[in-house]
Amino acid sequence: MRTARATLVAALATLTMVAGAGIASPAAQATPPVKPAGLENAKACEITRPSEGWPDGTSAGFDTNLHHGLDSDWKQHVRPVGTVRAIMLFVDFPNARAEDNPAPYADTSTYYDFLEPSVEWFRRSSNGRLNLEITTVPQWFRMPLPDTEYGLSRNTFTVENQLEYVRDVVNVTDPDVDFSDYRLLYIVPSRNASHIAFSPEFNDYTRSIVADGTVLKNGDTFGQDMWGWGFKILNHETGHAFSLPESYNATGIGGTHRFVGGWDMMGNISGRAPELMGWNKWKLDWLQRPQIGCVTQSGVTEYTLTPIEQGGPPGAAKKLVVVRTGPYTAWVAELRRAVGNDAGTICDPGVLVYKVDTSIPNGDGSIQVHDAKPGSGRQGPCTEPDIGTLGIGADEVPLFHDPATNVTIEVVSEDESKAMVRVTKGDAP
Ligand SMILES: [Zn+2]
Repeated sequence: MRTARATLVAALATLTMVAGAGIASPAAQATPPVKPAGLENAKACEITRPSEGWPDGTSAGFDTNLHHGLDSDWKQHVRPVGTVRAIMLFVDFPNARAEDNPAPYADTSTYYDFLEPSVEWFRRSSNGRLNLEITTVPQWFRMPLPDTEYGLSRNTFTVENQLEYVRDVVNVTDPDVDFSDYRLLYIVPSRNASHIAFSPEFNDYTRSIVADGTVLKNGDTFGQDMWGWGFKILNHETGHAFSLPESYNATGIGGTHRFVGGWDMMGNISGRAPELMGWNKWKLDWLQRPQIGCVTQSGVTEYTLTPIEQGGPPGAAKKLVVVRTGPYTAWVAELRRAVGNDAGTICDPGVLVYKVDTSIPNGDGSIQVHDAKPGSGRQGPCTEPDIGTLGIGADEVPLFHDPATNVTIEVVSEDESKAMVRVTKGDAP
């Protein structure tokens, strides 16, 4: 563990490095490079995915329909605004019968009660924009095949196997369920079905499962790893059904959580600050244009940010500042505080700066946190990227500067409920 002093030294080293990059040098001060700029409409910062998409097989087979462009396709995914109805079905198997589980796992209510806090998590995260309504059928449906036959263990899983599993579940349950009421399908297996190993999202682009006149194409097939992750597995996986890509590193090169640490529900489900990043909230239509500061032109602008974990009073304050740096790229700043879904566990409240690059496919680093305090090391449960915000005060770094894009973001003032940031965008170098 690093001491506070070592952290401060690292912070000062960063500041010195920033000054060396030119933004605060005497010469730069003598000739202000930029002038105050007018406020822009957020539409100019609505970055989409590349129109050509990505070739099949990119990103180690990850679903490239999930990307960080704001142009979510609501024909393929579920738009998470208003009441979204889900049906939760419980299944067991000839070789893994629910009644053979020890109490309380013979009872479907145990499974529902375990996952149900995710509903309130979504309500807070969306600031009331999403009301996820989960209906259960509180009985076990017996699958026709043993759990070993579905190809859903770690080393046999394919989306084709998952599709056939869902097809069997729908066939078995259709006499008892009117699927026309539901947009999301959650399938939960008996605790002793050890071969249903993990909990991948269900996004079926073949649209081939139709019941009661409804195409069943989004949801999640839960597995035994849900008991390790906790209820937030539902929030993460449903995030995919809502069009969000992975935020963690799926390339296999470097640490799994080196891109965003514990800062985003689509990164580490067990992260210390699991609230969805503001960019993802904008993509889900939980934030809207008046809540976004947008910078595309050279100049100096200032914004008051209020915490991303809370709804904001209407007015001048913003939830995000997006500094567009190219067709597919932007620097983004948001304020993170120990409230709402981040209460109690957040490591380093402050202004979080990150880069979005929508040309990077799912799982390869399309969203990456800027570590304002490199070298802070792991401190207890807090990892290096978890200790990386901008702020004012001892051990804090107030300034971000990227020489490659000539963007500077400085925290001018902050208190518990807000922070003022000054954005300086120079001409591209
Ligand atoms: Zn995921």
